[in-house]
Amino acid sequence: MGINKQQYQKIISELDGKATLVAVSKTKPLEDIKELYDLGQRDFGENYVQELVDKYEQLPKDIKWHFIGHLQSNKVKYIAPFVHLIHAVDSEKLFKEINKQAAKYNQVINCLLQVHISAEVTKYGFDEVELTSFLNSDLTQYKNANICGLMGMASFTEDNNLIKKEFTHLKMLFDQFVQISSLKHQLSILSMGMSADYAFAINAGSNMVRIGSLLFGSRIYNK
Ligand SMILES: *Cc1c(COP(=O)(O)O)cnc(C)c1O
Repeated sequence: MGINKQQYQKIISELDGKATLVAVSKTKPLEDIKELYDLGQRDFGENYVQELVDKYEQLPKDIKWHFIGHLQSNKVKYIAPFVHLIHAVDSEKLFKEINKQAAKYNQVINCLLQVHISAEVTKYGFDEVELTSFLNSDLTQYKNANICGLMGMASFTEDNNLIKKEFTHLKMLFDQFVQISSLKHQLSILSMGMSADYAFAINAGSNMVRIGSLLFGSRIYNK
């Protein structure tokens, strides 16, 4: 229980303002979040809709809540009124729904597209072909959902070279797509790096890391 303050200060100084730290507080109690909040942390990441809504209701309103997990389209409506950034948009269907819900609240919701970069088999994330075709489609129709960057997860492996290669590859894609003709703004956020691999991600050009267990301790339920 309790957060690791030394580790927090260490990470903050390593990032040195060049990357945003999203403190991943999934499964962790309100007290732990408050502790980090009192040290000045404002960006927090959650994976589960109901848990995020509960925490949002009970915690200070200047927290920027990042939804970092897989999001089901039918749950977008619960987080649309307050979410700061949705990291793992992995289909056009989900993006459409975000746009629709955001419009109801007269909001623009910032989104990252999740790109499948790891060697692991997963249902989630755009592959390169899908990403290219989506980013080249007419995105001007989406007035209330804004694509502002990419997100990816490296393989869960001891093979550091593979991790570096995957992050470098995502950075290359990011650079390739920075300017998208049908978007008003250029892509600015590259979300990659977690507790075990954030140093590699930063070296490869990440400007947003999502760190949980290093700050809050390991999660009891590995959900
Ligand atoms: C849980 C999670 C994290 C944080 O993982 P740690 O290894 O605890 O730092 C980062 N990103 C996503 C998408 C997650 O689900």
